[in-house]
Amino acid sequence: MLKGYVHSLESFGSVDGPGVRYVIFLSGCAMRCQFCHNPDTWNMTDGKEYTTDQLLKTALRFKSYWGDKGGITVSGGEPLLQMDFLTELFRKAKEAGVHTTLDTSGNPYTTKVPWHSKWLELMKYTDLLLLDIKQINEQEHVKLTGQTNTNILAMARELSDMGKPVWIRHVLVPGGSDKDEYLHQLADFIHTLKNVERVEVLPYHTLGIFKWEKLGIPYPLEGVKPPTQERIDNARRILGAI
Ligand code: SF4
Repeated sequence: MLKGYVHSLESFGSVDGPGVRYVIFLSGCAMRCQFCHNPDTWNMTDGKEYTTDQLLKTALRFKSYWGDKGGITVSGGEPLLQMDFLTELFRKAKEAGVHTTLDTSGNPYTTKVPWHSKWLELMKYTDLLLLDIKQINEQEHVKLTGQTNTNILAMARELSDMGKPVWIRHVLVPGGSDKDEYLHQLADFIHTLKNVERVEVLPYHTLGIFKWEKLGIPYPLEGVKPPTQERIDNARRILGAI
């Protein structure tokens, strides 16, 4: 049985997918988002090891709270870095009749083999994806996250072709993504997708700065304040977000 590295667990998640959810944060992420509020998830081996059965059993203790809509969400870090583990977990969850949601940055996505065929296998057991598009502009995306967005947008298109339900999430960062030009470009891109059930704007916040300090990593957005309510409303209007 496969083992995975788990950073942390949340028994009653209410913001990572529909209904009440058991949220599993897997360790490891190759992105370096300047606004990341969980830099302590970056290192894969910092997590605690679980088998898929151990994890599912722990989650199922909360099943009575999930109602019709809830279930399990796997987040991170970046869960696709532990795709074999994740696929086994979701396959077993589906066998147990559980709704599965994957919260991903899309960063590991590639059409190369064998990665892509494994990803298709995972998609068989994934009911919903929460896909972060952090910046639509390629160069600005690299500045903001340290990585390209080309493969992330390709993943969004493939999910659209598959008809897989997706919620798009966009962190609104003053000076990083909060510019009307980029928001309109992102809205245009989202309009080309046929599978988007919801768009969420997540205002940048500073609650994770202490973790950067604790890890001894200089915080790149020092002095940047969260967006004003006016800018949040503006982004929501442009993106058709809730
Ligand atoms: S993808 Fe998520 S976990 Fe990774 S650096 Fe960005 S915000 Fe942090």
